[in-house]
Amino acid sequence: MKKVVIFGECMVELVSKGGNDMIKSFAGDTYNTAVYLKRSAPNVSVSYLTAIGEDFLSNELLFAMGDEQINTDQVYRCSKRNLGLYMVRTDKQGERTFAYWRDNSAATQTLNVMTQPPQQIDMFYFSGISVAILDDVQREKLFDLIAELKHQGCEIVFDPNYRPRLWPDKEVAQAWMDRCYSVADIAFPGGDDHLALYGHTDADDVFGHLAPMRIGETVMKNGAVGVRIKNAQGQFIVPVEKVNDVVDTTAAGDAFNGGYLAARISGKGVTESASYGAKVAGTVIQHPGAIIPVEALKKAVNSL
Ligand code: ADP
Repeated sequence: MKKVVIFGECMVELVSKGGNDMIKSFAGDTYNTAVYLKRSAPNVSVSYLTAIGEDFLSNELLFAMGDEQINTDQVYRCSKRNLGLYMVRTDKQGERTFAYWRDNSAATQTLNVMTQPPQQIDMFYFSGISVAILDDVQREKLFDLIAELKHQGCEIVFDPNYRPRLWPDKEVAQAWMDRCYSVADIAFPGGDDHLALYGHTDADDVFGHLAPMRIGETVMKNGAVGVRIKNAQGQFIVPVEKVNDVVDTTAAGDAFNGGYLAARISGKGVTESASYGAKVAGTVIQHPGAIIPVEALKKAVNSL
């Protein structure tokens, strides 16, 4: 059985239903990817590496992971901290506003409380958010862990998921993102992320910037425009079937990554994997929220 470890933070999500009513669930970029990877490839072992609290919400998250068949062997407990939380409000025009309480979350301490680092795994996935929430000492511990995993032959996968509010300024973010890219075997740059972070306006800018990082497989997402892939064989363009009745684009990129990696780790080629990832993402954006009902995904996309 192939083994994947996904590192990051899962938060409590509260979505306003109008007035003071809220719907509670659990989400976060890397967690969303873990869920869609596991749902797409049930035969792959997916562990989520994070830290949670000892409160009842943290316990509920563990149960949610169990429901998704995600291994919790890499979930650590932090006695003095809780889960991060965010709230989403949608106004009458459909515009969403987010408020976050995550600065002191348990997940910000993951590398400090980790006692049994993952070993002998096939794939390690992390994002710019996973890095942004750590202090510099823990970032170094993360890069030590990645170096050790690479040494063992593990594939390293990175998505920048740039969130300006999590970084002191663009220069600092660029420096860390470039360092992350330079250890990646597979990377998922997004068109919007690269425009905001580096001012790149097209795929050539993005691939040009990433060339010195020698990433084996670069998969550039660009909404409904399509996916561009670059690897040792050359460049490929994979069209995406445009979804017209988009309900909520939350987690589109995360879902794509989960589907793409599920297909790759199941032995599919890059273009077939991109089409599969696009199918997963295209389904997710037709439903509200980051994590859509299991049945809704099953109805639209066969698992691998
Ligand atoms: P991110 O969420 O990282 O910004 P994108 O907006 O590029 O990512 O979307 C990720 C993936 O979701 C795309 O590669 C595509 O497969 C799918 N997607 C996004 N928007 C649409 C759309 N309108 N129609 C069909 N697929 C879409």
